[in-house]
Amino acid sequence: MLAAAGVLLALVPFWYIWRILREVIEVAPNYENAVHVTHYGWMAVAFAFAAVLTYIAGLMCSHLAAFRIATNLRLAMTKHIATLPLGEIEQFGSGKLRRTISETTGATETYLAHQLPDKARAVATIAGLLTLLLAFDWRLGLLSLVPVALAFAVMTSMTGKGMQEKMTQYQNALADMSGEAVEYVRGIPVVKTFGQTVFSFKKFKGAIDNYERWVIAYTRQMRWPMTFYTLAVNSVFVFLIAGGFLFSRGGADGGVLLNLLFYIIVTPVISLTLTKLMFMSENGMIVQDAITRIDRVLQSPSLSQPRTPRHPKDSSVMLDQVTFSYDGTKNAVENISLSIGAGETVAFVGPSGGGKSTLAALIARFFDPQSGSISVGGVNVKNIEKNELMNTVSFVFQNSHLVKGTILDNVRMGKPDAADEEVLAALHAAQCTDIIEKFPDGVHTVIGSQGIYLSGGEAQRLAIARAMLKNAPVLILDEATAFADPDNETKVQAAFNELAKGRTVIMIAHRLSTIVNADRIFVLNEGHLSESGSFAELSGKKDSLFGTMWQDYQQSVRWKVEKEV
Ligand code: ADP
Repeated sequence: MLAAAGVLLALVPFWYIWRILREVIEVAPNYENAVHVTHYGWMAVAFAFAAVLTYIAGLMCSHLAAFRIATNLRLAMTKHIATLPLGEIEQFGSGKLRRTISETTGATETYLAHQLPDKARAVATIAGLLTLLLAFDWRLGLLSLVPVALAFAVMTSMTGKGMQEKMTQYQNALADMSGEAVEYVRGIPVVKTFGQTVFSFKKFKGAIDNYERWVIAYTRQMRWPMTFYTLAVNSVFVFLIAGGFLFSRGGADGGVLLNLLFYIIVTPVISLTLTKLMFMSENGMIVQDAITRIDRVLQSPSLSQPRTPRHPKDSSVMLDQVTFSYDGTKNAVENISLSIGAGETVAFVGPSGGGKSTLAALIARFFDPQSGSISVGGVNVKNIEKNELMNTVSFVFQNSHLVKGTILDNVRMGKPDAADEEVLAALHAAQCTDIIEKFPDGVHTVIGSQGIYLSGGEAQRLAIARAMLKNAPVLILDEATAFADPDNETKVQAAFNELAKGRTVIMIAHRLSTIVNADRIFVLNEGHLSESGSFAELSGKKDSLFGTMWQDYQQSVRWKVEKEV
């Protein structure tokens, strides 16, 4: 409202300037009779000043509101994200979430702080101008509106429905290009190592070509409408002068000519306002996109929390007819029932995509299954309080996330109140001594800074130390598929064994060598539990899936050994 009031105030000086001109013309050539001119001049200045002050006050309000709303949106999103199932957060991707929280709220901020007041100004300008133009001389008023109507028609054709689609295409082309650019930068080492040329990045080049094609076609398409628009918006004087001649009967009617002066002063504001309005619709699309992204986060359902939480009795795990699908079409796991006794070590094995990771994620309640139930310690995981479940089940992933911080901080995340000695003991138990000794700053080395990076195996050992400190009775281990060096592999294995002591362990095994000592093995294939039993039981059966897998595995080991010999 302040912005609109400001713009109406800003129109008043035009009227005073016109009055000055009128007085000067009326008294000519006896200019000493123009006694009101100074007063009019000062009034024009006063109104211009008042207009600026009102506008500033409006902007101040809009900025305060915009900052407050952006802050609240960020808080709401951060709070909501904390209630989402962990699996859901992974699905979003941390990069995307970060962008949504920081950048898209920025878009709403710009919109509310600047574009909304601008919009109010544009609407008020148009209303104020229309009144003025028609009140002074309705004939000239209508005439000066002809080019506006023309420009408006052209503008609508440019910003209509088809345009919204075009904008989406444009945003997509832009997103593709930036995505491919990231891939390209990541791939530079490969290009250099294998002596390839930039042209091996066909997708990147394709994305750029695509963008180029789009932009050129779009520009071509806009050439004529834009030309007409500019022409129409700026043609107002042609109409006015012709009309002035006509209505004043070739200059005989001085009053009309005087009014014409007013129109000549004020009409340039029209083209300015129209052009502003045209760019505004583009901003509207950007903020719409931002709001959709924010809503997508805010509307994803939270993990339900039990009203009367119960405590797990022991560290046993039971699955009863569990079915889960990521997308509602294909079941990632189907109808799976199994029970794992407290203190048992079991392994999930099977072909890739069989459902091992999904099942493990369900036990830690990263997702809730669509049907069936999962219990830990005899209590359905839905009835265990979130923090208690997190303290009961811990997991070590293949790609262990380490935060930018010291080694000590990273491990202490498993138990925030742990003393330094406790953290150090966990590090030693997890075979991390060599990692600490490698760096001059020891446990105070900041990971991720100044070229300090850890190998996959090293990162996993730190994650094991973290899990050890957390000391949860149920442990889910996602065994790494590949190690760069055998030394690392041995150490990770030893760390795993240390961690497994006295706990219920569920191991997602990618290599069969590590599961020989498991109490039980569950074979998952295409989302179904196809076999289960001890290693001795399963490997004996020749026609079973596990039997085949075991034979293949042994063959590959033999092949490797013979090759090396
Ligand atoms: P495994 O761990 O045995 O390789 P997964 O549990 O990862 O198997 O996959 C089981 C099925 O679920 C596969 O068909 C896979 O494509 C699908 N899947 C796994 N993760 C996701 C995900 N985040 N979104 C959608 N589908 C997924």
